[in-house]
Amino acid sequence: MRLFAALQLSEDMKSALADTAAELAKLGKGRFTRTENLHLTLAFIGETPASDAAVEALGGLDAACFEMTLSGAGHFENLLWAGIAPNPALESLAAKTFSLLQEAGFALEEREFIPHITLVRDYKPFEGEIPQFAPAETCMTVTHVSLMKSEQIGGKLTYTEIFSKALLP
Ligand code: ATP
Ligand code: MG
Repeated sequence: MRLFAALQLSEDMKSALADTAAELAKLGKGRFTRTENLHLTLAFIGETPASDAAVEALGGLDAACFEMTLSGAGHFENLLWAGIAPNPALESLAAKTFSLLQEAGFALEEREFIPHITLVRDYKPFEGEIPQFAPAETCMTVTHVSLMKSEQIGGKLTYTEIFSKALLP
């Protein structure tokens, strides 16, 4: 199965992101993330049969709940994303998640962690360049890290939480 570790987003944050996606949809087309699928990836595990090992690794996370704020936006070529305000707790959580998974034997790509929430892939503006966009700054408390399974079900990209690790209060 295809797995990744992610943060689930609050309904408020998803709603702010959906508003931005709706604005972008007026100005161009692309493969928009379904609102229920919006998330922030901490580490991408990829195809593996070893879900138990991933559960065990994330179970070893020892980190506290923290706040994060939606802020700014950017793009990787034609993939448009919303950003998170600079956040040491988030960076540290991503680094811990990465090392626990690596220690558990998963071969993860060593890329710089750029916290982002993908809004749309293969975006093509109807005219001109990619427009400026930025979701309303929305704050939420992160209380859990989720182990997600990614699969196509009936032609629909579906993410299912298979394990959730609570962060310390
Ligand atoms: P699709 O691949 O069908 O366009 P998707 O990228 O949302 O959709 P997955 O490829 O299963 O679905 O990825 C799950 C999550 O992991 C997404 O947040 C995706 O951006 C992220 N991800 C995928 N591949 C990598 C990678 N090589 N490095 C870092 N993050 C990745
Ligand atoms: Mg992908």
